[in-house]
Amino acid sequence: MADAYAVKRSLYQHAPRQGKRVLLTHLDIELTERCNNACIHCYINLPANDDQAQARELTTDEWKDILRQAANLGTLTVRFTGGEPLLRDDFADLYLFARRLGMKVLLFTNARFITPKLADLLARMPPLAPIEITVYGMSPASYEAVTCISGSYGEFRRGVGLLWQKRVPFIVKGALLPPNKMEIAEFEAWAATIPWMDKPPSYSMFFDLRGRRDSDARNRLIARLRLSPQEGVVLLTRRPEAYRKDMAQFCSWFMGPSGGRLFACGAGHGGCVDAYGRYQMCTLLRHPDFVYDLKQGSLREALTEVFPRLQETQATNPDYLARCGRCFLKGMCEQCPAKSWMEHGTLDTPVEYLCQVAHAQARYLGLLAEGEKAWQVGDWRQRVASLAGKV
Ligand code: SF4
Ligand code: SF4
Repeated sequence: MADAYAVKRSLYQHAPRQGKRVLLTHLDIELTERCNNACIHCYINLPANDDQAQARELTTDEWKDILRQAANLGTLTVRFTGGEPLLRDDFADLYLFARRLGMKVLLFTNARFITPKLADLLARMPPLAPIEITVYGMSPASYEAVTCISGSYGEFRRGVGLLWQKRVPFIVKGALLPPNKMEIAEFEAWAATIPWMDKPPSYSMFFDLRGRRDSDARNRLIARLRLSPQEGVVLLTRRPEAYRKDMAQFCSWFMGPSGGRLFACGAGHGGCVDAYGRYQMCTLLRHPDFVYDLKQGSLREALTEVFPRLQETQATNPDYLARCGRCFLKGMCEQCPAKSWMEHGTLDTPVEYLCQVAHAQARYLGLLAEGEKAWQVGDWRQRVASLAGKV
């Protein structure tokens, strides 16, 4: 009970004062890049016992300072992610600190390190948002073919069981990979029994390359694990009516060329602090010129002085300007400066795989004919309006 009162008191103390501008409503925090799994498709993970990475990570007090700064800027939600955030010994301390600042906590985890003690804490002081657990397979064989860690499946099931038993809300998501892609029906049937799943699980399938650009060999493996654009469309459209309805609405809001402006997205309005205190404009963008070192400054400086300037960056690559700059699929396509950086080491190079995925979806929706290129289409407004009119 004492915890609950502390939260209420703190909510009052940190509520945005009338007339005071809220600069930051949501903050992502990547507590560590290390992970207790070694997933074949992972864009970030370092080994759990990587001492050099661990030594560079922010200390408990440094994280608390950042959380305090965020609360003073009006932040209501913080997402703890990684790597595996539960690998940090001080996770419970940081979690309680954020909750006592009045923040809702989103936790992304593989659930292997959920202990009875942690489940009790999460039940006593709820995060106020369902915990999000990624599932890598429905059997030890498939799960561990992805995570490469013997015994990880049993630990994941035990962690999930503890949350369930303590009635701590959680949802599950899938990562669709060759070892588990025959298990979709089994996964969805199980997911439907979880009391907090109010819709079918989402999936990662168009996997990102290594965000630190640290391994060509890993990148080649990740590229081989990706679904083909056609396979991706089959999966995305397995509930065709719902897909068409969602996409018609989405397209009527977000489609249209972005011209030469690189950041046609929310980058720099929230952002992500990496494990070492570098504030990124978004979770994926690790280009060294587009991060701000919080050991040298504050969240406020980044948000008011640095990010607004970076958000104005213009593309200069003629290929990008001729394609993405003129492409009406920009809202639907995952092409962005972060993806370009991961794939090509520049911010403005079209990513061919993502281009094919967007074109395959657009063809399915009737926005493009076979062989058409989206950047050559002039009557895109009518096409989008026609899609909206059909559902
Ligand atoms: S559990 Fe997540 S962070 Fe860890 S290796 Fe797998 S995908 Fe990467
Ligand atoms: S569909 Fe192709 S051209 Fe259009 S934004 Fe995506 S990558 Fe660029």
